Amino acid sequence: MLKISKENILEDTTEGIKPFLNSGSGTKIVITTHHKPDADALGSSLSLYYYLKKLGKEVTVVTPTDYPINLHWMPGNDFVVNFEENQEDAIKLVKAADIVFCLDFNDLSRINELGDVVKNSSAVKIMIDHHRNPSGFDDHRFWTIDTSSTCELIYDFIIANGGEELIDVDIASCIYAGIIADTGSFRFNSTSSHTHRIAAKLIDLGVDSAKIHALLHDNFSLSRYRLMGYVLYKKLQIIPELKTALVYLNQDELMKFNIQTGDTEGFVNFGLGIKGIVFSALIIDRSVMVKMSFRSQGSFPCNEFSAKHFNGGGHLNAAGGASNETLGAVVKKFKTVLPEYKNQLLNSYDNEV
Ligand code: 5GP
Ligand code: MN
Repeated sequence: MLKISKENILEDTTEGIKPFLNSGSGTKIVITTHHKPDADALGSSLSLYYYLKKLGKEVTVVTPTDYPINLHWMPGNDFVVNFEENQEDAIKLVKAADIVFCLDFNDLSRINELGDVVKNSSAVKIMIDHHRNPSGFDDHRFWTIDTSSTCELIYDFIIANGGEELIDVDIASCIYAGIIADTGSFRFNSTSSHTHRIAAKLIDLGVDSAKIHALLHDNFSLSRYRLMGYVLYKKLQIIPELKTALVYLNQDELMKFNIQTGDTEGFVNFGLGIKGIVFSALIIDRSVMVKMSFRSQGSFPCNEFSAKHFNGGGHLNAAGGASNETLGAVVKKFKTVLPEYKNQLLNSYDNEV
C-alpha cells in the first residue's frame, strides 16, 4: 500500500512562532519528555536541544524521571536535569521559560508532577509528538500519527524551520537512535520510505549506524539477562485459544534480580515472537503503581484495549497503562476481560507465518 503523503496529515501550527524561534538569542527554552524516557524521547529532546542552542537559545532538557543507562552515551546527557533528583532547579527553569517543548507525549499526565508545573507556567507550549488523541494542553503543535517516531518529526521540524545545514553528527546520532528504537530497527509498519531517506541522510552526515545499534542493544547489565532467562523459562504464559502471551512480575522478583530502570525494556516482545501469538502483555508491580505494556501483531488495537481497561493508551500495536490496584487484581482483570476480545484476537493477523 502506498503511504499517504505526510503533508496531508501533519498538523503543523508552528508557522507563527518560527520567526521568534529563528530571531535573536537569549530566549529561554525548556524541553521535556515523558517519564522514564526511552531512546525516542531522549533522542528527540537532545537533538532539538543542540539545534536550538545553535540558534542561540538558552536551552535545558528537563526529564520527569531518570532513564535507562544504555541512553547515557547520548551527547548532552550530562546537562539533563532530572526533576525527581533536582525539583527546585527544574521548577525554576520551567517557570522562567519563554517556550516549553513537549516531546513524545501529548497529555500532561505522562510527565507526572512536572505536568502541573508546565500547565501553570506562562511559557508558550509546543508539542511535537506521534501519539493518538492529544489532550489539547499545547499552544502549538507539530503532530501526526503517520510517522515512525518523534525523532523523525524533529528532523522534519528542523527542515521545515530551514535548519538543514545546522544538523551535525551529534544531532544526527540522537535522531538516528530514536528512529532505530521506535521502529525496532526499521521493522515496524510505522517505518516508511521517508524514514529510510532520513536515516540515509543521517548516515551521510557521519552517523555510525553499527555503533549506535551496539550502544542501544549491547549495553545492558548482567542482571537484565538473568531476569530474561527467568522470565522465558518460568514466567511466560501462553493462552493459545486467545493467541495471547502474558508475563507478570512482582516486587520480590525485581529485587531478587536487582532490576534497574530499563532492565525490562523489550520483554513484552518475547511473546510476539512465538508462532500464532498476536497479543502480548507485560505487567509489572513497580511499587508506586502497576505498569502494563501491550504489543500486538495486525489489527488488534492495544491502545483501545488499554484505554478501556487500564487507564492507558498509545499506538495500535504498542500501548501501555497503569493501575493503583494490586498486581494480583490487575492480572485477574486482564484474564477476565481478554475473552471479550476473542473474535478480534483470532482475526487480528490473517497473514499467518
Ligand atoms: P511502553 O510499553 O514501551 O511503556 O509504551 C508503549 C506505548 O504506549 C508508548 O508509545 C507510550 O506512549 C504508550 N503508553 C505507555 N504507558 C502509557 C500510559 O500509562 N498511558 C498512556 N496514555 N500511554 C502509555
Ligand atoms: Mn516515540
